[in-house]
Amino acid sequence: MSIDTTTGLLTTAKYLSSPHCNTRDNTPIDMIVIHGISLPPREFGTGAIEALFCGKLDHAAHPYFRTIEGLQVSAHLLISRQGLITQFVPFHQRAWHAGQSTFQGKSNCNDFSIGIELEGTDDIAYEPVQYQRLAEVVTALLQAYPAITRERIVGHSDIAPGRKTDPGPLFDWAYLDCVLATCSA
Ligand SMILES: [Zn+2]
Repeated sequence: MSIDTTTGLLTTAKYLSSPHCNTRDNTPIDMIVIHGISLPPREFGTGAIEALFCGKLDHAAHPYFRTIEGLQVSAHLLISRQGLITQFVPFHQRAWHAGQSTFQGKSNCNDFSIGIELEGTDDIAYEPVQYQRLAEVVTALLQAYPAITRERIVGHSDIAPGRKTDPGPLFDWAYLDCVLATCSA
C-alpha cells in the first residue's frame, strides 16, 4: 500500500470524488484523526456513508437521514467492516471531518489533518481487519507525510471533547499500536 503524493491518492483504494473539500492553503499535513461512523446509526454496509460524503444521500430514504439534511461532510478515507478502503478526498486537499476542534492549542484541525473513518459505532468493537487496514494506511501516511508522528494520531473525541465521542471507548489504541509495529517491522 502506498501513496502517490502528486495525486494525493492511496494507490490501492477505490476513489469516489467528494465535493465536500477545499484547499489547505499550503498548511502542512501533520496529524491523523480517527473517526467512527455508521449510517443509519448501528447499520453497516448500507452505502449511505459513501452517498453522504459524495453529497448524494437520498434524505427521503430513512427517517434518520432527514435529521442530517444539509450536512456537508467528508473524510479522506473510509474503512468498511470488511476492510475495504474508499478514498473521497486527495490528501493534499482539506476534507470536512473534524468540525470545531482543537489539538495542542491549534484550532480547525481539518486544516492540517487527514481524516480516516472506520465503519462502526461507539459500543460495537471494530473488526480486526479494520485495524489491519488502518495500520497499513497509517504506515503509508507516515512515510508520505513525515511531519505526522504517532503522538499526532488521535481520535475525534480527543480534539472535540464533549461534542464528539467517536471512535468510541471500544476503539483499541494498544491493539492498533501492536498491528502498527508488525506493519513497520
Ligand atoms: Zn468523527
